[in-house]
Amino acid sequence: MSARILVVDDIAANVKLLEAKLSAEYFTVLTAMNGFEALEVAKAEQPDLILLDVMMPKMDGFEACTKLKADPDLAHIPVVMVTALDQASDRIRGLEAGADDFLTKPANDLQLFARVRSLVRVKMMIDELRLRDETCRELGFDAAFSSIADEDLSGNVLLVDDRPNAAMSIRGIIKDRLHSECVVASNRDDAMNAVRFDKPDLMLINAAMESYDGLRLCSEIRSSPQARNASIVLMVDHGDYKTIAAALDLGANDYVTRPLDENELVARMRSQMRRKFFADQLRDNVHNSLKMAVTDPLTGLYNRRYAVPHMQALMERSDAETNPLSAALLDIDHFKSVNDTYGHGVGDEVLKEFAQRIRQSVRGVDLTARIGGEEFLIVMPETGSSSASVVAERLRASIAAKPFKVSHDVGAIDITVSIGVATAHSEREKPEALLERADIALYRSKNSGRNRVTMSGDEEAAA
Ligand code: GH3
Ligand code: MG
Ligand code: MG
Repeated sequence: MSARILVVDDIAANVKLLEAKLSAEYFTVLTAMNGFEALEVAKAEQPDLILLDVMMPKMDGFEACTKLKADPDLAHIPVVMVTALDQASDRIRGLEAGADDFLTKPANDLQLFARVRSLVRVKMMIDELRLRDETCRELGFDAAFSSIADEDLSGNVLLVDDRPNAAMSIRGIIKDRLHSECVVASNRDDAMNAVRFDKPDLMLINAAMESYDGLRLCSEIRSSPQARNASIVLMVDHGDYKTIAAALDLGANDYVTRPLDENELVARMRSQMRRKFFADQLRDNVHNSLKMAVTDPLTGLYNRRYAVPHMQALMERSDAETNPLSAALLDIDHFKSVNDTYGHGVGDEVLKEFAQRIRQSVRGVDLTARIGGEEFLIVMPETGSSSASVVAERLRASIAAKPFKVSHDVGAIDITVSIGVATAHSEREKPEALLERADIALYRSKNSGRNRVTMSGDEEAAA
């Protein structure tokens, strides 16, 4: 894994040492000698990770970290504070300033590299989401999300621990201080079931259980689809660097060392919850924006932008010989006069009801789209022309049979539809060509009196 790491320290020898270690592992190293310079370099170079010394003149590491995290362009870059201090109170101060972890000087190599790899991995994932989110914004979808306050961090926590007393007291802390639900699992099977059914946001796992290897559990959980995005925090014995390094490499996001310091546990869990919720928001934004990009807002059907490429995919998948695909084009008859007589609003009501009736008469596998003002498309995989003709005729009849309810004084309006249907002749036929044939058939329906279905090919026979 290659990544760009900014090393910040006011003592040149410390910078040189970390630079040498990291370069040897093929990381690209940037350097800064004080807090101000760190902010400048971070802004200009957008590193993937910052290793930040705590004790520096003028602006110390806590202050630099607070400033980094307050800048929207830099807040997503993980920060590891490198410190000679080893007091829980300093770690909490750092976590509150937004630091992701601490390394004690001189840094243990195993822990340093595992930490760096783990944070860089998370950062790459967040980068990808940020990029997609940005693309959505550029496409014009407002995907703004709010920053997440401490009191909004309550979620679902799964605690995996086989020591009943310790588990009870940790559960109390989670409930009281994180305002989160906490399910306790004392063995592997219960833990995996909870992952599946409770979909925890965060999992706190005892690495040293009697009955099961906590590291193995960590890796099993990480590879289950329900927990792919959840945060995992491991509880390990103080100084057990081997376990810490292995845990981070297996996908744990953070760890706490025993004996547990309550404040530190809470601070670390809060920062993991925040990361999880931030990523969830990005993911939801991307998902919603994509949905908006392919959906017609009036009817909720797919739009043309989605329908035609998707039709191509369905056509490639179908076999013209054994399971041909058919497409029906629908155009509401004299729709302009609905608008002219009752107003555009009533026209919209008709379009919505029309879409609803289409939905009710097609199968789940059929693709339905609004591809123009009062033009609709139904793509029917594995449907030959005789079945497609039956579907189209049933739909035509269902539109004509029952007047459309509207909010206008008249109460309801008679609506009819003209339909043209074409069936793909070969795998090589392009969606545009199939649509063209359906359109010719539709034109024939319009010309021969409307409120009817014409099959592509029939018009040639009739000509
Ligand atoms: P034909 O039977 O030949 O199809 O006649 P028509 O009046 O349905 O066809 P035409 O294409 O002349 O008119 C379509 C009308 O649909 C014109 C346009 O104002 C209206 N329209 C397009 N989009 C919307 C919409 O979103 N809402 C409403 N209310 N009307 C729309
Ligand atoms: Mg039209
Ligand atoms: Mg029309």
